[in-house]
Amino acid sequence: MAQTYPDHIWHNGRIKPWAEATVHVMAHALHYGSSVFEGIRSYETPNGAAIFRLTDHLKRLYLSAKIYDIEIPYTLEELSAACREVIRANGLTKAYLRPVAYRGLGGFGLSAETPTDVAVASWFMGPYLGAGVLEAGIDACVSSWQRFAPNTIPAGAKAGGNYLSGQLVAREARRLGFGEGIALASTGLLSEGAGENLFLVFDGALHTTPVSAALLNGITRNSIITLARRNGIEVVERDLPREYLYLCDELFMCGTAAEITPIRSVDGKPVGAGKPGPVTARVQELFFGLFDGRTKDEWGWLEPV
Ligand code: PMP
Repeated sequence: MAQTYPDHIWHNGRIKPWAEATVHVMAHALHYGSSVFEGIRSYETPNGAAIFRLTDHLKRLYLSAKIYDIEIPYTLEELSAACREVIRANGLTKAYLRPVAYRGLGGFGLSAETPTDVAVASWFMGPYLGAGVLEAGIDACVSSWQRFAPNTIPAGAKAGGNYLSGQLVAREARRLGFGEGIALASTGLLSEGAGENLFLVFDGALHTTPVSAALLNGITRNSIITLARRNGIEVVERDLPREYLYLCDELFMCGTAAEITPIRSVDGKPVGAGKPGPVTARVQELFFGLFDGRTKDEWGWLEPV
């Protein structure tokens, strides 16, 4: 199916027609991966469209930029307004937002002093890993590619270049017929999915890999930890070896795009009963309940469009 595009995009300070937001072929980011970005969702709630943890996502954007000395020439408030504006300009409610700040045209060397260009796109997005996966779950595999070692590329920055790793993991998984790939860290221990964090369930408790395991400190991961603890579900952050994927009772991945996607098998071995389990269902209920009012938003996570 041909890709369709939204009508408008915010680029360098204003809303423009989609087709006018162009980049020069010699832009620094295109050659060297020097961009930082975010993925954010807005949902329809009983009180109107709301952006989930917009401020926390934008804070992470500035922190990613700090790691790479990318100066973002807008304040957090300005980008926050841009996010709302581009959703409204495209007439969306349930949407995905993609703010990106990138080194533009201005020099050809690695450490060239380039201007930073900024864009915010928004479009409608359903379940990221395919129709029906939130209910049915996916079959995942452990990738033959490892995540980068911690003293090479910082996994804690959401930077364009990091996603070469994610592409290797995701494309290999799809090529082999799996729904998503899971990567090990350079230590050989479990890291995360191509673009998702991991939760394993043992005896009713959630176990998730720590930020030292070459992963992005996900905002969905943090939301799940907070919701689980608030609702009496134990959460343990710990190093986990690969075989625990095969030993756990339940397994799911999470992220802004993937939301909470159950995993029913890994490397062809069933996880638990081979179908989404009750703890995963409870976590989904708590998470999606934020958007239909079943879960009280005690943290101010829903930011109105
Ligand atoms: N890990 C990676 C590599 C990701 O790209 C993402 C998606 N941003 C996540 C984890 C999940 O992060 P979040 O919940 O903040 O979207």
